[in-house]
Amino acid sequence: VKLADVIDGKAFAAGLRGRIATLAARFEAEAGRKAGLAVVLVGEDPASQVYVRSKGKSTIEAGMASFEYKLPVDTDEATLLALVEQLNADPAVDGILVQLPLPAHLDEQKVIATISPDKDVDGFHVTNAGRLAVGQPGYVPCTPLGCLMLLKDKLGSLSGLEAVVIGRSNIVGKPMAQLLLAESCTITVAHSRTRNLPEVVRRADIVVAAVGRPEMVKADWIKPGATVIDVGINRVPGAVEGKTRLVGDVAYEDVRHVAGAITPVPGGVGPMTIAVLLRNALVAAYRHAGLELAP
Ligand code: NDP
Repeated sequence: VKLADVIDGKAFAAGLRGRIATLAARFEAEAGRKAGLAVVLVGEDPASQVYVRSKGKSTIEAGMASFEYKLPVDTDEATLLALVEQLNADPAVDGILVQLPLPAHLDEQKVIATISPDKDVDGFHVTNAGRLAVGQPGYVPCTPLGCLMLLKDKLGSLSGLEAVVIGRSNIVGKPMAQLLLAESCTITVAHSRTRNLPEVVRRADIVVAAVGRPEMVKADWIKPGATVIDVGINRVPGAVEGKTRLVGDVAYEDVRHVAGAITPVPGGVGPMTIAVLLRNALVAAYRHAGLELAP
């Protein structure tokens, strides 16, 4: 039998970053300044440090200005909120991202609510969630927007397709469902209380798995020919003792015998997130400068 097409998110993200770099250079020529993205990290969580470093590096590679703020783990709320307000007011800053999770003594919702919705390039502010829900232009969370780009690139029109999103987080599952609805899919959002999940998933032409459970989605859950987008990033013990490896939420080796197309982990959805973040920041810059973002 034919194996599923592999959706190469790494290659797609590289292409997107190239297009962004071209547009960022054009922005600088037209606006007389670089598009700017500010990233705020509180504390020393190792994974967050890696993400922030790689966001800063990618921002500069795209020809945009990167402003990094590293605050100590015991930073109090007033100090963090004052920094966000300062960035809201700074005309050199088009996008603001506060790396999550924050240390437990800080209220994430309060911090997100303080970011100006028009600089909220992560799309986590309730104003942007509302804009997405009612179909107004705003900022959409990077990971689900990246998934949508891969789906449209692979399938063209999504109109009328059955889509099952597994996971209902504010960061991935819910905005993914909104995006698919806006593309005229018939959507089902499944979660931990869903009954008969395999049966629900078998209806789907498009499956988006955003659960955080290694290889949970099995081959016999998948309708033959379906397109499978695996958002999960799970670290599991590797073949060699003491080593680990990354797997998704989908049992890739089995599912690729049934699906029509599938994203691998790593190299699928993961690389899209930062590329879309840069895209959102560039869109913000064009909007702030009152310039047209021509394709
Ligand atoms: P959350 O933990 O916030 O949400 C997980 C969702 O999965 C919840 O809605 C939960 O349901 C649901 N769920 C949990 N167990 C089951 C189950 N047994 N059956 C059905 N549904 C279940 O995770 P996120 O949305 O933040 O992330 C999901 C995954 O995506 C993670 O692996 C994460 O690492 C990865 N991720 C990858 C990114 C990238 O590629 N750049 C970015 C963001 C996330 P309930 O609501 O009922 O609890």
